[in-house]
Amino acid sequence: MIMNMPPTLEQNTTRRPTCPACLRTRLACFCEWIRPISNRVELLLLQHPLEQLHAKGTARLLHLSLARSRLLVGEVFDAALVAPPDCRTLLLYPGAEESAPELLLDPAISCAALRLIVLDATWRKSRKMIHLNPWLQDLPRYSLPDPPPSRYLIRRAQQTHQLSTLEASLLAIGRIEGDAERYQPLLQAFDGFVQAQQRQSAHGQTNPPSQPRSNQARDRHSV
Ligand SMILES: [Zn+2]
Repeated sequence: MIMNMPPTLEQNTTRRPTCPACLRTRLACFCEWIRPISNRVELLLLQHPLEQLHAKGTARLLHLSLARSRLLVGEVFDAALVAPPDCRTLLLYPGAEESAPELLLDPAISCAALRLIVLDATWRKSRKMIHLNPWLQDLPRYSLPDPPPSRYLIRRAQQTHQLSTLEASLLAIGRIEGDAERYQPLLQAFDGFVQAQQRQSAHGQTNPPSQPRSNQARDRHSV
């Protein structure tokens, strides 16, 4: 089952005007940080439902910026629908024996024929999503050895090198395409997004999620 319906105003318990693009309240709207980029590798973000309205999530900013991206919300996905064989699909996830799977070394496969799946979830939930979607287990994995330090200072990491979903996705796509520069404008805008989130947190102005959360100090994303 795929759930890809943004919450309506009625479902938003804040009952404050909500930006239709980023789904945040007007005070927490992050649309000013969107940087339109024509990416070549298709990005498919599979977002756990608990992340959908998380005030500090980065997947939606990423999705709204990258032209070739999709953001689907759910726990269980039909591979035939979400990842049809028109593209060769990779999963961004640790565990790859090689950082570049064999198909990336094949000069006959262009970047435009590649799809990168990124799970937007905590580590625990991402493991559950992989368990619930056996087709994800069968995908070749792309990993990010030696990532740079995270710019993301607002969600606690289990390890300091763990990156946000936005950073990890941009780093991976930039490396696969051999064009990291293309993504610099969004990474620089992301710094502004982080600072704005910090200011809003300090003033208690973040958009509260629809359900009370007991795990605010959670681990980072699964990439
Ligand atoms: Zn907005």
